[in-house]
Amino acid sequence: MRPGSLSRQYNVCGKPGCRCKDPKHPSRHGPYYQLNYVFRGKKTSRFIRKETLARVRAELANYKKFRRLTDEWIGLALCLAEAEE
Ligand SMILES: [Zn+2]
Repeated sequence: MRPGSLSRQYNVCGKPGCRCKDPKHPSRHGPYYQLNYVFRGKKTSRFIRKETLARVRAELANYKKFRRLTDEWIGLALCLAEAEE
């Protein structure tokens, strides 16, 4: 699993006359996928290759599930503690 969120980007390059700067029908480069996450207080951002996109999406989903289940577990533990006290 891994934390973070994916964003999709389209870029414009610096080459003169490139398709991304066509005055009538600009076609920007991309998509590029960027993953942003915070781990131990440190913000990190990195590009994800198309080949690994499916795996990263699965890892992000696993992390969300883990967080949701852990939250549920803590909630139930609190209920139990209150009932016992
Ligand atoms: Zn270009």
